[in-house]
Amino acid sequence: MKKYLVKPDTKVNLSKIDPSDTGDFKGGKEAALIEFQKLNAKLEALQELLYAEHKHKVLIVLQAMDAGGKDGTIRRVFDSVNPAGVRVASFKAPTAEELDHDYLWRIHKQTPAKGEMVIFNRSHYEDVLVVRVHNYVPPEVWKKRFDQINEFERTLAESGTTILKFYLHIDLDEQKERLQARLDDPTKRWKFRLGDLDERKLWGSYMEAFEDVLGKTSTDYAPWHIIPANRKWYRDLVISSILVETLEDLKMKFPESEENLDGVVIE
Ligand code: AMP
Ligand code: MG
Repeated sequence: MKKYLVKPDTKVNLSKIDPSDTGDFKGGKEAALIEFQKLNAKLEALQELLYAEHKHKVLIVLQAMDAGGKDGTIRRVFDSVNPAGVRVASFKAPTAEELDHDYLWRIHKQTPAKGEMVIFNRSHYEDVLVVRVHNYVPPEVWKKRFDQINEFERTLAESGTTILKFYLHIDLDEQKERLQARLDDPTKRWKFRLGDLDERKLWGSYMEAFEDVLGKTSTDYAPWHIIPANRKWYRDLVISSILVETLEDLKMKFPESEENLDGVVIE
């Protein structure tokens, strides 16, 4: 899965990366699902350990175009974890109060505490994506944000936060199909916004903005992964596997009881 990692300070060309890649799973979905179930069970156990040990903090950042699969990823990849220790923070267009502060203010408040796993559905990266594409602030403002974000994430990392960032890579055709499905399916219509069609027209500008984000803000302490996401089952498999591997590397342990329990008998 290392092949999906973005090395620091690289020039990313998204048009050269296949969103329909299914890696070693040429056979397709069935074999992948078996693998995915195993990873799901491992993730459940690792999250339990994270919560019990109460030492590490885990932050997972999801970014993608509209219909890129952020919600689906959260639903599928995290369906086995314990809600007591896991939280999703979704970032919408900033409120008036949020706009009166710096752009990291609302973000910092949502970062994980010890033992906690937090999933960001959109994030501070919107402030160098949608904000850049729509000129909500001038270039001299957003251009400074790459360094600011790297320093912010460094602070989190040096305070015990494990950070993983995933860009869900789909193409224009896949987005069209998914948006059409939202239009056609009464249970999905609520997700459709006419504004999504305006964003779709800006696809090229978004890709340029994403390439900058991925190239400038992938660091050893907060790496980006570009996840082929046209096939949902492969997307889920890759993300689960990166998560499990990263959590295993933390070498977490269940804590000892604070009291001496040797010889305790329950009547
Ligand atoms: P959704 O994720 O579909 O609920 O949509 C949330 C919307 O909020 C998207 O259109 C985002 O681009 C927008 N959004 C999130 N963060 C920001 C931000 N910092 N500035 C402007 N728009 C934002
Ligand atoms: Mg939306």
